[in-house]
Amino acid sequence: MAIYVLSKIAGYANELAELARAFFPGTIVKIAAEDSNEFTDKSLVIKCHYKRTKGHVEIRIEYEGAPKGGGSLSQEHEIDVNLSSIEEKRLVKNYMKLMLYQLLEELTGRSLEWGALTGIRPTKIVHGLMDKGLDKDMIIKTLYDDYRVSGKKATLLLDIAQVQRPYFKDNHPRKISVYVNIPICTTKCLFCSFPSATIDRCAHLIDDYILALDKEMKVLSRLAREQEMEVETVYIGGGTPTSLNVNQLEKVLKAVDKYWGYQEWREYTVEGGRPDTMDKYILRLLKDYNVSRISINPQSMNDRTLRLIGRNHRSDQIANCFHMAREVGFDSINMDAIVGLPGEGVDEALHTMEEIKKLYPDNLTVHTLAIKRASRLKESIDDFETTEVKEAEEMMKIFYDGAASMGMRPYYLYRQKYMLGNMENLGFSFPSKESIYNMQIMEDQQTIWAFGAAAITKVCYPVGGRIERAPNVKDIEQYIDRIDEMIERKTRLIK
Ligand code: SF4
Repeated sequence: MAIYVLSKIAGYANELAELARAFFPGTIVKIAAEDSNEFTDKSLVIKCHYKRTKGHVEIRIEYEGAPKGGGSLSQEHEIDVNLSSIEEKRLVKNYMKLMLYQLLEELTGRSLEWGALTGIRPTKIVHGLMDKGLDKDMIIKTLYDDYRVSGKKATLLLDIAQVQRPYFKDNHPRKISVYVNIPICTTKCLFCSFPSATIDRCAHLIDDYILALDKEMKVLSRLAREQEMEVETVYIGGGTPTSLNVNQLEKVLKAVDKYWGYQEWREYTVEGGRPDTMDKYILRLLKDYNVSRISINPQSMNDRTLRLIGRNHRSDQIANCFHMAREVGFDSINMDAIVGLPGEGVDEALHTMEEIKKLYPDNLTVHTLAIKRASRLKESIDDFETTEVKEAEEMMKIFYDGAASMGMRPYYLYRQKYMLGNMENLGFSFPSKESIYNMQIMEDQQTIWAFGAAAITKVCYPVGGRIERAPNVKDIEQYIDRIDEMIERKTRLIK
């Protein structure tokens, strides 16, 4: 069976298709035109209609074809004419998603823990409701009424929002985070969809890349000082920044220090990522430049999986690197794990969690595998054994329980498209060891000035939650060639 979503309204079809995908994991879901000739008698065709007349909106969702003939759901809504077009669009989209959810729930006899929520930042909704003064029970009720979010997920969101709020209370428009992107890795992971180049392909560009990065930060840091920007956190991510050689990495650290070190930051993270890119010398270098937090990401502690996903290291190297980082003095180390990697099941998740527990990192981020279009995994999915949704849920529970048994609590959450079992990515932390950057940026609470290829600068306006973006080009060579244009684009947004 294939599912087709027909919606004439630009910007709605993607989210409606995402919702259909959540109900029918593994089924092809496409956005199509009304007169498409792709439909067969095995297709399920979902049609979304919308008509607006003088503050009155009529929405109808119907389906035809497999698996059960046809059906429809229609509702009419009064839309406040005083709403801005953006707010009206948001409202109509939410109604549409909720109606499609109800229709698919009836059709499949199943309900989803995240209900009709397809956006990536569900905690943001909870912060909005808290800002309006709603109490816990009213927030849980609203999340159910408006999105059909289960009580369990609503409580999780509330717990997370409560951990985050003290970190957000002193936010102001001049408080920002700085992100520096090093989109370079030693090898490309099977599941990776990031625009990150392997070092063997871009080694000849790295020196020029660092020069361009230096120029971009130099111009913008001048502006930051003029505007009296307060830098709360700095994050050097990627890619794997520690794929650079020591001299190159030091140039980046020096530049960051020179341009943004006009005041002290609360947090300075470098994403080490892979243990085969970090030795004692690199770790000491990071420490010398006052990096306060690093990541050493196993993804899995099973050697067979590490080989399969294209990592150049074994699990014992992860443990050795972790111990080395502790010896050098890092007292804030994050580890990432992924649920649903090819060939993994409950036993592998149990092993990974047990090994992580032995190390006792300060943060643990548990991702659900998302099979994205730009990944090698998507291209060759038929060659791999994929995890069933039920099993993925059990695996996720192993990590939740494991993190809780260590004394960690969830502190940030986000969702992505194409996630296995329509689940979530969840960050755990010991109290007071939470990553400020992750919370501020994932919740769109703070403006981020971002540098390097594929980096996206976002300005968050406190009024109405408006966000404006200035993305840099993704390709390293293009970024170097067009650096002046990148600087101008960003300056125009920020000024
Ligand atoms: S380390 Fe991260 S950025 Fe690099 S290839 Fe793997 S998933 Fe992609």
